[in-house]
Amino acid sequence: MYCKNCGKEIDDKAEICIYCGCGTGQKQAAKDETNVLAIVGFIFSFFFAVVGLICSILGYRKAAELGGSGRNLSIAGIIISAVWIGIVMIALITV
Ligand SMILES: [Zn+2]
Repeated sequence: MYCKNCGKEIDDKAEICIYCGCGTGQKQAAKDETNVLAIVGFIFSFFFAVVGLICSILGYRKAAELGGSGRNLSIAGIIISAVWIGIVMIALITV
């Protein structure tokens, strides 16, 4: 892609232009993507723990890879899913 500010060719995944330091808006788009996965994982963790766990792990990996956004939410999703799975396991054993 080309920098919107100076017009020089830069890396497609670059967050800022290496020539002028102008932001490319790439990071913002990535943040939204991360949040969606983390939010979906968090919501599903209450209803479908296994699906919530998978989405939360994917959200966590993506957040770690991209630098932070959605990390806490995905951790919450993993914990809630794990607790639910634990409760179900205990219920299955004790019933
Ligand atoms: Zn530039």
